[in-house]
Amino acid sequence: MDTPGPVEIDTVVSADWAVPLSGLLNLDAPEAKQAQLKDHDEPIQIYAHVVHHPRHGIFLVDTGVSQQLLADPGRFGVHWLMRKFMPLDQIQIRHSTVEIVEHLAEPLRGVFFTHLHIDHISGMPDVPATVPLYVGKGEATTRSFSNAFVNNATNALLDGKAALHEWEFAGPADQPLSGVIDVFGDGTLYAFNVPGHTPGSTAYLARTPKGPILLTGDTCHTAWGWTHSVEPGSYTADGPLNRRSLLALRALAERHPGLQVRLGHQAS
Ligand SMILES: [Zn+2]
Repeated sequence: MDTPGPVEIDTVVSADWAVPLSGLLNLDAPEAKQAQLKDHDEPIQIYAHVVHHPRHGIFLVDTGVSQQLLADPGRFGVHWLMRKFMPLDQIQIRHSTVEIVEHLAEPLRGVFFTHLHIDHISGMPDVPATVPLYVGKGEATTRSFSNAFVNNATNALLDGKAALHEWEFAGPADQPLSGVIDVFGDGTLYAFNVPGHTPGSTAYLARTPKGPILLTGDTCHTAWGWTHSVEPGSYTADGPLNRRSLLALRALAERHPGLQVRLGHQAS
């Protein structure tokens, strides 16, 4: 894993945003209480990771934000009630997904999702319908999202797009890192099951010329959460399981000190 590899990852800040810290971080965790963290609007970013493989071409991990979605959220099933919890009007786009996709040197070959929350599929209006889509096992079939409005928006954003392929992780679904998928079959990019934030949450690890890069997805949103091993708060479906997945990724990073870590919504 520590041997340099040929995959390049370009992490693009698609948008700046601010959301309640209590969603991003479990403020009831002993570490958070000890640090006396209080709820407030926390600045975060929404990323699209451009993955370049020398033979297989260009892929995205997550999609950034499409300007089309912000211009007309209702068209994509994002209703006012949901916007109250997820203040889309506070999203400031830096690079709309269309801008990212159009500037690629080759056509996009696929999207690897860390999970299907709105802010990770919010670039889908700009992703061509022929592009293959990949998600963790159980992510597409288990609708555990807390309210129906979120499900409607997820369905609307994926409507008319390619079918979702699920990673067939071999291990038990509730055992973090028990299944590892060698995505291209050449040991350059791996998908790990990190259940908890959502049932099919997936982390990706690439071997790049500068060493391994880990994309945690929302198993950890924030820099503070990573440093202090505190799982996300109200945005997470299963906090204790999310915590186990986070600790497994932390242990992986400790075993590989050269590992670069890129978190769900903040720079590490
Ligand atoms: Zn999420």
